[in-house]
Amino acid sequence: MRRLVIAGNWKMYKNNKEAVETLTQLKDLTKEVKNVDIVIGAPFTCLSDAVKNVEGSNIKIAAENVYPKLEGAYTGEVSPKMLKDIRVTYVILGHSERREYFKESDEFINQKIKAVLEIGMKPILCIGEKLEEREGGKTLEVLTKQIKGGLVDLSKEEAEKVIVAYEPVWAIGTGKTATPEMAQETHREIRNVLAAMFGKDKADKMIIQYGGSMKPENAKDLLSQEDIDGGLVGGASLKADSFFEIIKTGN
Ligand code: PEP
Repeated sequence: MRRLVIAGNWKMYKNNKEAVETLTQLKDLTKEVKNVDIVIGAPFTCLSDAVKNVEGSNIKIAAENVYPKLEGAYTGEVSPKMLKDIRVTYVILGHSERREYFKESDEFINQKIKAVLEIGMKPILCIGEKLEEREGGKTLEVLTKQIKGGLVDLSKEEAEKVIVAYEPVWAIGTGKTATPEMAQETHREIRNVLAAMFGKDKADKMIIQYGGSMKPENAKDLLSQEDIDGGLVGGASLKADSFFEIIKTGN
């Protein structure tokens, strides 16, 4: 009943030419994909050409950040209105790298989520525990705080449009992946938290992606879990063929 959404996160990789080349390859490879929504998160400098390149294909483009004001004296920032203007569809928010290096709080992420929803784009809210938090038995507490903080004051209808990406921080870029069973258990807990906030009906419709060293070899086992509705893929999304291998396992 939930469609898989598999998103790449290119982070701060690729110039404009490389982005367009990779998207051109990916478009060709994914022509026959029917059962997966495909998203690519690209750096700001590539977004305009990326959107134009994928028009008419089944690939949608995401920004990797936004500032939660429509316009104003915020030197160096990019607004939801600017992203909407160039037809960006999704915005990745609250990635652990932004929480860690740019000290983004749940409150700030919540403002961004609201701004993105208000203008009619779709947020991908990243949440995840650090290794010491998992080892200290604090995973659920940490995730609950991030979910509640990120989605506070959203209506049920707004919440339904949000994709939650569960990315254990210890699994991002490390080659370590949560086992499919461990990921499924955590996804179930996340859905329970969403159900408590927005009702079971809505929570059952919400997409919860897994992220953290997803690659062609482990994607099938992860994506076949009941509460795993797609992936957020960093390293393995940089090359069209390896990303396509992951998409194929879900198609
Ligand atoms: C990410 O950046 O969101 C991510 C999951 O990275 P990787 O797949 O490289 O672990």
